[in-house]
Amino acid sequence: MRDDLTTMLSLSVQTDMDPHATDPQWRLARWSAEFRDTRTETRYRQHAKHFVARQLVVSLCTWLALMTVFVVPDFVSMGWSPRFLGMLAVRVAVGLCVLALLRAVWRDPMVATRGLGATGLLGVGLAGYLAVFLLRPEIAIWTYALTPLILIMLFVFMPNRLLYALGMAVAAAITISAMVGYSHGWRPREQLILLLVLTLPIFTGYITARRMQILQRRQYTQIMATRRANAMLQQEAAQRAVLEETLRIQASVDPLTGLNNRREYEKLFQHEMARARRERTPLSLAMVDLDHFKHINDEHGHAAGDAVLKAVAQLLREQLRSADITGRLGGEEFAVLMPNTSLHACAAVMQRVLQTLQTLRIPFGEHSLHLTATVGVAQWHGGEENPDALMQRADAALYSGKKAGRGRVMTALATGEVLAFSPSSQAQAT
Ligand code: GH3
Ligand code: MG
Ligand code: MG
Repeated sequence: MRDDLTTMLSLSVQTDMDPHATDPQWRLARWSAEFRDTRTETRYRQHAKHFVARQLVVSLCTWLALMTVFVVPDFVSMGWSPRFLGMLAVRVAVGLCVLALLRAVWRDPMVATRGLGATGLLGVGLAGYLAVFLLRPEIAIWTYALTPLILIMLFVFMPNRLLYALGMAVAAAITISAMVGYSHGWRPREQLILLLVLTLPIFTGYITARRMQILQRRQYTQIMATRRANAMLQQEAAQRAVLEETLRIQASVDPLTGLNNRREYEKLFQHEMARARRERTPLSLAMVDLDHFKHINDEHGHAAGDAVLKAVAQLLREQLRSADITGRLGGEEFAVLMPNTSLHACAAVMQRVLQTLQTLRIPFGEHSLHLTATVGVAQWHGGEENPDALMQRADAALYSGKKAGRGRVMTALATGEVLAFSPSSQAQAT
């Protein structure tokens, strides 16, 4: 029997299906069916307070209405007598306490979850209930009949903490059986039998309310688990987005200079070529190669070479329009693609860039490095399908610039001829 009772009481307190059954945070106390962890219990009450407060308000209003209605039969049977006034005084006193609790719950719904207000009010209600035995003994028989129902309602109708409701129900059962025994001159044995009979509604009420409490807290646990899982998913999605962005950047950016790498550059090149074809706009390409870069590496070390590459990339970023596409194709070779720009205009811009580069002093340790570069410029012919031919023409111009002595801008004309750029050469170049 004891084992059966234990099994019954532990019903659903620990289930294998609950992912949180092993987490102490979500464990429920056996008798009170509240979370053992006080912080979890407080958070649960915060979560449930409006629901519990609404239930309590409904119970209290029902209580008030019933007490008011019962004034009528009181008056009909007793008239305007001292006994009627006594009953009325009891009802008004209890009614005022009900109103006081309603007001407190209205102001702070958490009051409904703490259980102290409801328990105190039940104490007052019990005293009023006992007064009926004294003031109207002729209806005591009906009062007895209502007792089991009232004991069950203490658990299921009036929201309260389980152990408070249990304490109140036990106190009510003891007091009522004592009162009944006293008013009928019962012996202790008969009183004990009545008490035992009254344990049945208490047991039923307790088990029912306990199941409800457990189910509500299980539901809360599941809601929290779902929220946590959602938050983790969101966090994971955000981390994944950051990772994808990092990978995308790593795949498209040259880590030393921050310019587009060759792969990305070729992709952008294809886009710009398609656009120039669609919109029938000019498109020019400048290939830039630093002069005698090897010497910088040899004389000052690789780190100095890296510093120079970064400084050149920075210069290109500063000197060019945002629409121009700059990339480091490898080593000390850069490319600049200028949408909507003619050969002459592109060469003019690169001439200005070269002049600035020649005046640039790059600090490295105690040294101040300086360098020049050679540039080959070519313009896309509408008929060229892929970037290779354009790159080859710009490269050819670049290497003829190297041969001619470096530090200059060379233009590859549509005729295949390569000319040194001069600002006045527009007619030839376009
Ligand atoms: P030229 O004027 O004919 O272009 O001579 P150059 O020395 O610039 O030409 P070359 O192509 O012979 O040398 C390029 C050098 O660039 C060789 C290589 O060691 C160096 N280099 C390539 N990539 C890097 C890099 O990432 N960092 C550094 N510091 N040097 C690099
Ligand atoms: Mg070089
Ligand atoms: Mg080179």
